[in-house]
Amino acid sequence: MSQSYEFKTEVRKLLHIITHSLYTNREIFLRELVSNASDALDKLRFAEAKGEEIAAAELEPSINIAIDKDAKTITITDTGIGMSKEDLVNHLGTIAHSGSERFLAELAESKDSASNIIGRFGVGFYSVFMISEDVTVTTRSYKPGSDGFTWKSDGLGSFEIIPAENAPERGTVITINVKDDAAEFLEKFRLERALKQHSSFIPFPIYLDGEHQNTTPALWREPKSSISKEQYKEFYNYLTFDDKDPIATVHSAVDAPVQFTSLAFIPTFGRDLSSIGRDDYGLDLYVRRVLIQRECKDLLPDYLSFIKGVVDTEDLPLNISRETLQENVLIRKINQTVTKQILSHLERMAKNDADVYKEFWNVHGKVFRLGYSDYANRDRFAKLLRFNSSTHETADELTSFEEYVERAKEGQKSVYYISATSREAAKLNPHLEIFTRKGLEVLFLYEPVDEFVMDNLGKFDEFELVAAETVNPDSLKDFEDVVKKEKAEELSEEETATLSDLLAHIKELLGDKVTEVRLSERLSGSPAVLSSPDGATSSMEKIMRMMNQ
Ligand code: ADP
Ligand code: MG
Repeated sequence: MSQSYEFKTEVRKLLHIITHSLYTNREIFLRELVSNASDALDKLRFAEAKGEEIAAAELEPSINIAIDKDAKTITITDTGIGMSKEDLVNHLGTIAHSGSERFLAELAESKDSASNIIGRFGVGFYSVFMISEDVTVTTRSYKPGSDGFTWKSDGLGSFEIIPAENAPERGTVITINVKDDAAEFLEKFRLERALKQHSSFIPFPIYLDGEHQNTTPALWREPKSSISKEQYKEFYNYLTFDDKDPIATVHSAVDAPVQFTSLAFIPTFGRDLSSIGRDDYGLDLYVRRVLIQRECKDLLPDYLSFIKGVVDTEDLPLNISRETLQENVLIRKINQTVTKQILSHLERMAKNDADVYKEFWNVHGKVFRLGYSDYANRDRFAKLLRFNSSTHETADELTSFEEYVERAKEGQKSVYYISATSREAAKLNPHLEIFTRKGLEVLFLYEPVDEFVMDNLGKFDEFELVAAETVNPDSLKDFEDVVKKEKAEELSEEETATLSDLLAHIKELLGDKVTEVRLSERLSGSPAVLSSPDGATSSMEKIMRMMNQ
């Protein structure tokens, strides 16, 4: 007896895009189905490790792909966890996962075509409709005694679910009726190429017409000297879906205090700040080459959440549960060691390869700045920060604290900074004038978080980090003017009287909004400036006000 279901609205929207506007990059469907099969095998291993009873326990965990040219079908079979009837309705009828959501969001914003974006995001299972007339998914859950079901759809508006006598003992069989205009995918070499490109490092054997395809060994376990740049790139491309070279590759093996191997990449694309606080980051955790958890966030501090890669250790048990990873002492030690490895790499890069460092900073600086909260590595972190400053000619030049301090004037004990939305705004800030006149360098901070960074660090070496607007001009009188200020004329008694009337009038107009209105010695070009009596900067006050709301 068959039952019919409507796809949810957002699935229909997605399917419409998939069937109408995607003509290139269609091989992505294979990457998505193979990765689902791999996930299903992974979940099965977990159920087994937890001691659950498994149907057909003797079946090899594997992925089999078969082409039937005459029938114009591709069949993808896995011996993974399978799906119950409810799973089919819930997982293959709605958009319950982030990949598709991000794809739709990105598509709405981006000028890129859907074909380009799908490569980077993948839209999961539904991508199969790029190449298919219709699709059947026949599956049986790993729970002993489960019934089999077939899900069937042409990817238009609805799908149906039918009880299946012919379901496999355990796992899932996906049969794709290939569209005429996608006949290229009925060629074995075409699928071989797509598997090599996207699925080489899948941790379960993939067979195509009986031949083992993904024979590449776990790259991170190989000695560094035997790995080519091209192999690193392939692995990075597999992990990130990016098709470029990573900004940096950090590959290391550690024996103490924990034994582990790590292979980490700095990607060419950044994590947007709106995703901060979300858990979808981290290194993939392997125990003795077996994948334990994808994106294990406990392996990285959040300010390094842009890093992609893997950690493989001998020191954890294979059956460690995901729930206990978080409190695990070894995991915390690996996190600390990986953090130090990355910081060391960044230090070397900053020293030897300033251009690459600058690229890193521009792509990942926003997230990296959050490292001010890493007390254990605070000094190293501070040295890796970069700022635009008043000594630069353009907005894209950068300086470090160390360089600033080297340029500092004799007797200077502070690093000065101004917060602004842009370089233009910073240069127009009246508080800058006196520093320009004295030839004192001022850092320009363009990110709201920068002030928290400054506040939290407090000092660099012996230098206090100080907001320019909180500086009392008197404290700068030991620094001679390098730019001459026009000598103010002596005021006549009458003029002084008029001015104090004016000041009193302004105070009256502004009322409680200001504490005091007085004559200033600090300005040369601007008529007036707002300054803060208690040392808080105006943008900090703005942030405080927003947080109190
Ligand atoms: P994602 O993999 O990001 O969750 P997909 O659209 O690729 O999204 O798949 C949706 C869901 O369908 C999966 O999360 C999983 O629950 C289920 N699923 C898909 N393929 C399989 C499979 N081969 N075996 C078991 N479950 C599957
Ligand atoms: Mg998927």
